[in-house]
Amino acid sequence: MTELVDATAPAEPIRWPDGYRAAAALTFDLDAEAVMLTADATSADRLMVMTHQAYGPLTGVPRLLALLRRHGLRATFFVPGFTAERYPTVIKAIAEDGHEIAHHSYLHESTRGMSRATEAAMIDRGLDALDRVAGVRPVGYRAPMWEMNRHTPELLIERGFEYDSSLMDCDVPYLLAGPESRDIVEIPPHWALDDWEQYAYLPELIGSGLIESPAKALEMWSWELEAMHAEGLCFVLTSHPFLSGRPGRVRALERLIELMASLGGMWITTLAEIAAHARTLGLTPRHFPRPEISEGNHD
Ligand SMILES: [Zn+2]
Repeated sequence: MTELVDATAPAEPIRWPDGYRAAAALTFDLDAEAVMLTADATSADRLMVMTHQAYGPLTGVPRLLALLRRHGLRATFFVPGFTAERYPTVIKAIAEDGHEIAHHSYLHESTRGMSRATEAAMIDRGLDALDRVAGVRPVGYRAPMWEMNRHTPELLIERGFEYDSSLMDCDVPYLLAGPESRDIVEIPPHWALDDWEQYAYLPELIGSGLIESPAKALEMWSWELEAMHAEGLCFVLTSHPFLSGRPGRVRALERLIELMASLGGMWITTLAEIAAHARTLGLTPRHFPRPEISEGNHD
């Protein structure tokens, strides 16, 4: 039986391949209309909201693909099944450029408290859409809003996923233990490395009410990038094409890429490559027991 470490044990340091000292991945969540339709189905008839979201696949993605081409980089695109069905040409263009296409639900469903059966059906519907549209069987998954349930890792393991990128307890990849000595690689993201908190604004639907300067986003992400590089960690940036695909923001992203390249020894790659490497390291699977509140600890 696989030995499990306790929840308080820090993740093991990672040895990166080929002399690299740290890793960085650019990830793009292609939420498009799905995220707003889940929040409010009547959004389907609001053209401002729908076109704001359609900007991602229609205008942002081509600009981002050009950026990645200029720098010879491969990225990971997390695609809801609904987005794939609505924009097959865009999804195929992403795949043809050699980028990784990963699973990001069907309709960006709210998974908080979702039953096991409902969540299993949602994951299968997303898999079916990516297969039909792009002939892709994804190895990676990211939960909508990073909201994982206790049963989610097992559903992913049962379907042969190699990794998830939703949990936040450390800043290097690790093995998340599942049932029957099986496990899945976890590659942690973080809210501070997400463009949503900087740029998302839609009246009544989302956002803080602020639209931040790309200079501020670049400054925040650069601090984290430099420190993670120095410590040999795994920098995972989460961007949304409907937000980060705008011209000034792509410029900020380009400067971040230039910084990545200038740091030296930074492995800039896809999450699938990082997960495959993590698998070779013989890491001890970790689990995260449910915090139990005993009688007497609360009123
Ligand atoms: Zn999303």
